[in-house]
Amino acid sequence: MLGYAIDHDRRALVVVPEEAAMVKLAFDLYLKTLSILEVAKRLNSLGYTQKRHTTKLGKVLGGRPWTKEAAHRVLRNPLYVGKVRQKDQLYDGEHMALVTPEVFEITQKRLTMRSAGKCTRRTRRPEFLLTGLIQCIACTSPMTSSMASSRGKLYRYYRCRKEAEEGTFCPTGLLRADEIENAVLAQLREVARSGALEERIRGELAKGDSAVDDALAQRERLTAQLGELSAEAQRLLAAFSGQGATAGSKLLVDRLGELESQMDRIRLDLSAVEVHLKSCEVRRDEGEHFVDFLNSFDDLWGMLVPQERRELVHALVSRVAYDTEARKLHIEMLDPKQSAPPAIVTTSPEARP
Ligand SMILES: [Zn+2]
Repeated sequence: MLGYAIDHDRRALVVVPEEAAMVKLAFDLYLKTLSILEVAKRLNSLGYTQKRHTTKLGKVLGGRPWTKEAAHRVLRNPLYVGKVRQKDQLYDGEHMALVTPEVFEITQKRLTMRSAGKCTRRTRRPEFLLTGLIQCIACTSPMTSSMASSRGKLYRYYRCRKEAEEGTFCPTGLLRADEIENAVLAQLREVARSGALEERIRGELAKGDSAVDDALAQRERLTAQLGELSAEAQRLLAAFSGQGATAGSKLLVDRLGELESQMDRIRLDLSAVEVHLKSCEVRRDEGEHFVDFLNSFDDLWGMLVPQERRELVHALVSRVAYDTEARKLHIEMLDPKQSAPPAIVTTSPEARP
């Protein structure tokens, strides 16, 4: 099982630090991206593979690239929170957990929620950038996508869901999707141009850098400790072999055991630091990528597929609301500092079909 090796003498699972780091990283990546596919992709791009076994004859098995299914099995395995399964029941195991109960539990919840189809990011009609964000103020109802064709041409609209589903009267009617989306895009372009967002991302990145410095210092400290302990162990071993079996040898053996377990703990801490450093690296790459994007918003927007456009809009905008009476479109950004005053949209409520 990834993360552990079986100690046949003690009949116990012992932690394999490099693999344990991979398991922790998988959970960490999942909670950040909420995508199992993304977890598999990133583990692969970081050069990790699935568990490798060496047979008694020295043949290496496994070590295949990560797949969605393999990543899913890791995220669902209660072993990593210190439990063992026996006949459909979970019991506390003797082995060391690799993730905290909180991380494990929230991961299970998210996995279940997403497999149940709630809160999915994929939508049936990704070209509707604003479904899930846009609301009809008059009815305090979300708006949904709607299509109509006329003389061989297809028109896209946002339509009040309350009206569509319950048939109640809604003064908003149908809103031309293109016009509303263009107004939102204009706002995003403005945000990209003003540099406010870039400034914030740069700030976050700088914070990340100081976390990296801390982690590097900690890694140095732990490595030094490990060196000292291992030097002491070497000295004891040398003394032991020179001395033969005497009354003092039991003391030596005890001390050696103690040193070994201290070293195990430090190795575990070290692997946690490595995981942290890796995830800082991933985050920095993402941040840089995003800043590049903002700097060439117009060029890049045209290259995105609808699903990517939708994700970008959802990453920046918290709510779009149409006020029928004032004919104003409110565009609220996730960062309130970027919200502009409500824009007047020239679109007029059209006749209901
Ligand atoms: Zn309405």
